[in-house]
Amino acid sequence: MAGIEILVLGGTAEGRRLASELSAVQGLSVTTSLAGRVEDPAQLPGQVRVGGFGGVNGLLAHLIANRVRAVVDATHPFAAEMTHHAAKACEAAKIPLVRVDRPAWTPWRGDVWHEVDTVAAAASLADSLGRRLLVTVGRQEASAFADVAAWCLIRCVEEPEGPLPVRCQVLLDRGPFMLPDEQRLLAEHRIDVLVTKNSGGGSTIAKLWAAREAGIPVVMVTRPRLPPGLHCVPDVEAAIEWLGSVLRGLVGGTADPR
Ligand code: NAP
Repeated sequence: MAGIEILVLGGTAEGRRLASELSAVQGLSVTTSLAGRVEDPAQLPGQVRVGGFGGVNGLLAHLIANRVRAVVDATHPFAAEMTHHAAKACEAAKIPLVRVDRPAWTPWRGDVWHEVDTVAAAASLADSLGRRLLVTVGRQEASAFADVAAWCLIRCVEEPEGPLPVRCQVLLDRGPFMLPDEQRLLAEHRIDVLVTKNSGGGSTIAKLWAAREAGIPVVMVTRPRLPPGLHCVPDVEAAIEWLGSVLRGLVGGTADPR
């Protein structure tokens, strides 16, 4: 018998963990959806589908055609469009939805943060603050720095898209990053401003510690707004707990993922 269909909107470490933990639960059939941005994504247990759904209506059609019973949105905190589409489609289909919203980073004593709303604003502010920028805004938005006068070290997981600054170096690397390595990177490249999105989480936080210790300012891109009324949990454990309560309501006690 086919299991209860769960759709995980992935592309993050949380999405990978959910795929692995939920696929091990008898009675569940778990599909992870990936946008398809990364050429060689990590292997995931359960089913995997790749590529956009075609907007809210496409997602709605997918949910209905596949008899999806619950959706876990574990996309990146800056994947705002997908999150808004999921909220609208799940509301229309009356399918329970939870968002795994990992807590944002907050400044500590000694931090010098300049918060801005967009990556474009971050590029222009950082250019006015320093001459050697460490840019960690992801490969999709690195091109916002194309016109800065400062030298940029652009670190991302895969080759950045679009035009880049004339004076720059691309560093392809993937977290987790450790404090001593981040300190070495800042010193070696004489970085005087760090630019980052407020992604939160532990695997890339060490750059903020390194910037604090070096007395380097941080230009921090704040998170996009979430859809109003969206049910959010901070981590994978809480999402699994939520799914347990939803499934108990659906099937009266079986397929509890906890
Ligand atoms: P986005 O701007 O919110 O999404 C743009 C469009 O891409 C969506 O409307 C949807 O297309 C498609 N899409 C996004 N996530 C999808 C998913 N998990 N499954 C199927 N389609 C998806 O998202 P993004 O910023 O481009 O991010 C894309 C993916 O990369 C996400 O899975 C996210 O978790 C991951 N990621 C993003 C960042 C970041 O900084 N933005 C960082 C790390 C990882 P349709 O409208 O056609 O359905």
